[in-house]
Amino acid sequence: MNLHIETPLVESRPLSVLAGRRVWLKLEALQPPGSFKIRGIGHACQTYVARGARRFVSSSGGNAGLAVAYTGRRLGVPVTVVVPETTTDMARKLLCMEGAEVVVHGGSWQEANQHAQSLLGPNDAFLHPFDDPLLWHGHASMIDEVAQAGCKPDAVVLSVGGGGLLSGVVEGLHRNKWHDVPVLAVETEGAASFHAAVRAGHSVELERLSSVATSLGAKRVCEQALRCAAAHPVQSVVVSDRSALSACERFLADHRILVEPACGASLAAVYDRAPALEGHDNVLVIVCGGATATIDQIRAWGRS
Ligand SMILES: *Cc1c(COP(=O)(O)O)cnc(C)c1O
Repeated sequence: MNLHIETPLVESRPLSVLAGRRVWLKLEALQPPGSFKIRGIGHACQTYVARGARRFVSSSGGNAGLAVAYTGRRLGVPVTVVVPETTTDMARKLLCMEGAEVVVHGGSWQEANQHAQSLLGPNDAFLHPFDDPLLWHGHASMIDEVAQAGCKPDAVVLSVGGGGLLSGVVEGLHRNKWHDVPVLAVETEGAASFHAAVRAGHSVELERLSSVATSLGAKRVCEQALRCAAAHPVQSVVVSDRSALSACERFLADHRILVEPACGASLAAVYDRAPALEGHDNVLVIVCGGATATIDQIRAWGRS
């Protein structure tokens, strides 16, 4: 059984006209918990249950936590999500709506995560938001769906936080023998941990995160993201918060779908006609989604 849905693959007329090339959208924003994360989390949770897990524990107040809560409800497995005090009311409300136990602990994600680790018993499975081969394996299914639709792109545009989505998409490209399809890996300026790692040639820890794209806020990418960059053509693209926010508003007007700035970053690469798109006639954008932003918040960020 799959917990994710097969999402629509549509050609965007507004983006195609604007970018002067065909732009295809894989609409992961339409997954029931609001983002692509359900693909990997759903697969990982099902695997852990088969191995004997009787509770899921997460320390994500974002889309990973929401995907764990959704999966737990669907499978009838209790879920505990430990989040820091800084977690938005919106995220807490969504987690509670899925029936998860929400424990608020500490002033930072590090403290919440430490507390979550201390709660783990022998029958508990901890779900990491991006650094788990089971997650990448699950995320790869989105590329299987594109291949089954018979639509081979010339390039894939996606957002990078901790690098789980990138790792999954590269796995999907390889298992469909699309080794020659490059990936444009987009981040915002204040969360560019993949960009920093590619430049340094090894993973590096950012001193601080300063982007409104909170779902891209991993100080350090997983090692697999760097292995992907070595084994596959991956180009790093960095956009400003302002571009990502403006892309969210433009995408809402064009396609009537609200996404987080983390997803707006990928869309901004197309709306702003990033030089990296040059030479690619058919571009596939992973519209990764995100459920934790409101239009009021996006507009308020845009004004500040
Ligand atoms: C998690 C997430 C990302 C980043 O994915 P990683 O696997 O951490 O690179 C991007 N956009 C949204 C909406 C997310 O939830």
